[in-house]
Amino acid sequence: MGRTPQKGMVYFDILEALRKSKVCILCDLEFSNIRRYLDNLLYEKVNDVGVRRDLSRSRGYCRRHAHMLLEFADGLGSAILYRDQVQLFLDFLKGLDSLPGKLRSHNLPESWNHEALCPACVTQARCRKRYVECLLEWLGEPHLRKAFDDSPGLCVPHLLLVLGQIRDAASRTYLIGVQVSKFSALVEDLAEFIRKQDYRFCGQSPGREKGSWQRAVSMMVGVKDVF
Ligand SMILES: [Zn+2]
Ligand SMILES: [Zn+2]
Repeated sequence: MGRTPQKGMVYFDILEALRKSKVCILCDLEFSNIRRYLDNLLYEKVNDVGVRRDLSRSRGYCRRHAHMLLEFADGLGSAILYRDQVQLFLDFLKGLDSLPGKLRSHNLPESWNHEALCPACVTQARCRKRYVECLLEWLGEPHLRKAFDDSPGLCVPHLLLVLGQIRDAASRTYLIGVQVSKFSALVEDLAEFIRKQDYRFCGQSPGREKGSWQRAVSMMVGVKDVF
């Protein structure tokens, strides 16, 4: 007897995002997950031993997530986390003269930065995997498919990732077809936006092309702070 897959929370998160989101849903879901993770961290975990140990191993957050953390404007939480980081760097700097010459000069950035271990990146990667797998599992289901048809589609980085993992030929054909229509509409919107910048047409009221220049950037590179 074959497995009957159950629609879990991840499926319903995807469906809701497809119906509501104005951007790539995978960007949207990852962004809100990582914001919730950082919010929760600042709210109750800045003194957590495990959190601080992971941060010591990674030498802090990567540049992207460190700046996201700052956006919460939580002085105390950030100060507690970064006191550790500054102290760690200070210890590293003080010990630098005693390191062998080779490590001192050639491998200096690598010996300090461990971006691949950024705890927020690790969390985001797990979250990405969960959403991509679920999207692939349910892409043939009518409700999800209808919502996907009407959604803004996936950004280029997420689309390439999903296409790289898709095994089912029909789903692949479907996905490419939808994305072709999304990118075609975007090209038309950009052309219309450009046309209306001409002084002869600038009195015309804005239509679907409004904001297409911003949408084009987030479709090409993903939503800000996601990649
Ligand atoms: Zn995306
Ligand atoms: Zn990171």
